[in-house]
Amino acid sequence: MSNDDPFIQETTPSPSVATRDADPWPDPWLVLVVDDEPEVHAVTRLVLTRLRFRGRPLKLMSCLSAAEAERVLRATPDIAIILLDVVMETEDAGLRLVRTIREEIGNHAIRIILRTGQPGQAPEEDVVLAYDINDYKSKAELTSQKLFTSVVAALRSYTDIVALETNRRGLQQIIQSTDRLFELRSMQQFAAGVLTQLSSVLRVKPNAILCAQRGEADGPLTVLAGAGRYADAVDHPDHALTPEIVAGINEAFRSKRGVYGADGSTLYIRVPDGHEVAAWIHTDRPLDGVDRALVEVFASKIAISFSNVSLYERLREANETLELRVAERTRALEEANARLNRLATLDPLTGVWNRRRFLELAGAELGRARRYGRHLGIFLLDLDRFKQVNDTYGHAAGDEVLRTVVRRTREALRASDHIARFGGEEFVVMLPETDIEGTLVVAERVRASLAQAPVPVEGRLVPIAASIGVANWLADETSIEQTLRRADSALYSAKQAGRNRVERG
Ligand code: GH3
Ligand code: MG
Ligand code: MG
Repeated sequence: MSNDDPFIQETTPSPSVATRDADPWPDPWLVLVVDDEPEVHAVTRLVLTRLRFRGRPLKLMSCLSAAEAERVLRATPDIAIILLDVVMETEDAGLRLVRTIREEIGNHAIRIILRTGQPGQAPEEDVVLAYDINDYKSKAELTSQKLFTSVVAALRSYTDIVALETNRRGLQQIIQSTDRLFELRSMQQFAAGVLTQLSSVLRVKPNAILCAQRGEADGPLTVLAGAGRYADAVDHPDHALTPEIVAGINEAFRSKRGVYGADGSTLYIRVPDGHEVAAWIHTDRPLDGVDRALVEVFASKIAISFSNVSLYERLREANETLELRVAERTRALEEANARLNRLATLDPLTGVWNRRRFLELAGAELGRARRYGRHLGIFLLDLDRFKQVNDTYGHAAGDEVLRTVVRRTREALRASDHIARFGGEEFVVMLPETDIEGTLVVAERVRASLAQAPVPVEGRLVPIAASIGVANWLADETSIEQTLRRADSALYSAKQAGRNRVERG
C-alpha cells in the first residue's frame, strides 16, 4: 500500500471536521486485532496505520489468542473494533469470544469483524445468524481495500452506537438529576445541585459557575453558585470570573443560547418567571452534537425547577416576614394591654390602686377572711381642709402633697396591706389578718406621721393632717361595702370631732 492509496486519501479530514484537529493529540480509535498468525497483525497494521476517521487516528492493539484478548477486552471497555480470527487455541476460540464479549462482558457497542482462514469451519450464514457479529470476512477475500472499507464502516456504526448510548445515559441522568433537583428547596442548594448534575451529564469534573445578570445586557454578574475549582466563587467572584468566563457568560446572555468553546461551555437557562441564568462549565473537550443536545435538554428541564425554587424562596421569605410582623404586632399588643391594665387598675397621680381595683382586692380578701375566720381591718383617710391647700399653694402643690401622703402612709404599713385612692383626697387602707385594735394602732401611726411634719413643696412648707375612720369586717357582713359604710361614718365622726383624729365605727 502506497501513500497515494485512494482510500487513505478519502479519509483525510474534510474541512467541516478540520476544526476538531485543533487538538494535536486527539484520542485514537482503539482497534483490537486477535489472530494467532503474527503476519496477519503485520499486514493489518500496514493497511490501517495511516487511516484517520473523523480526524482521529487508529491505535492497533494485538493479541495472539482468544484468552489474551478476553483479558484486554475486560480491561479496556472503549475498544471500537475487534478484528477476530475464528480458529486459534481451539477450533471455535473466536466464536466463543464473541459470546463472552456480548453476554459476559456485556459490551454491545464494540463492532466485531470476524476473519477466518477456513470458511468451511464456520460457514458465513450460520455464524452471522448465530453470533452477534457485525461483519464476516474470509481472510482470502480480505484485500487491503476491503479491510479498509470494512473498518471505516464499523467505526461509523460504532460512533452512532456510542452517541446513542451516551444520549440515552445522558437523558437518564437528566431525568434523575432534575428529580433530585426538585427536592432541593433553597436556591443556594439548588444552584450548587445544577452544577453537579450538569457536570455528570457531560461526564466532566464539576468545575463550574452559575451566574445571573444584574441590570441590562453586559451588566455586572452575580455568582449564584460555584463548584470544584470555583467553589468559593460566591464569596470571591472577581477571582473566579476570568475574562474568558465573563465573555462566555455575557455572550450566552446576549445570544440567549448556549455558547460552546474549546475548553469551556456556557449553558443558557431562561426561567419561566423571566429570570435568566447562565452556567459556565469547564470541559476537557469541545462538546459534540450529542453533548450539546443533552445540555439543551438539561437547560429546558431545570428552567422549570428554577422557577419552582425561586417561588418557594419567595414564599418562604414572605412567610418569614409575615411571622416577624405577627410577632411584632403581638408584642405591641401585649405592651398596650399591660399599659391599659395599669391604667385600669392604678391611680396615675400617686401610683396606688384605684377604687375599682381596690373593690376587687377587697372581695378576694373578704372571701379569705370568711373561709379561714380571719380578721380584716379597714380605714378611710380624708385630708383635712385640703381645699385650702389647693387654694393657698396651687393645684400642683396639692398634687405633690397627695403623693407625699401616699408615701408616708405606705411607710407605716406592712407589705401585705393594701392602699388605694378612693377619690379626690380620700384614701382607703385594708389590713388583712388584723383585728380592730391592730387596725386602730396602724391608723393612729399613719395619722401621726402625716401630721407630724409639714410637706416641703417648692421651698414652702405645707402643713397637713388627716381624719381617719376605722372599721373591722364583722362576720355577718356579706359585702365589703357594708364595712366601708361604717368606716365612712366613723370618718364623718372624726371630722365632726375636730379633724386630725382617728374614730372607730
Ligand atoms: P374636709 O377637711 O372637710 O375634708 O375639707 P376639704 O377641703 O379637704 O374637703 P373638700 O371635699 O371640700 O375638698 C376636697 C378638695 O380636694 C377639693 C379638690 O380640689 C381637692 N382635690 C381632689 N382631688 C385632687 C387632686 O387630684 N389634686 C389636687 N391638687 N386636689 C384635689
Ligand atoms: Mg378633705
Ligand atoms: Mg373629701
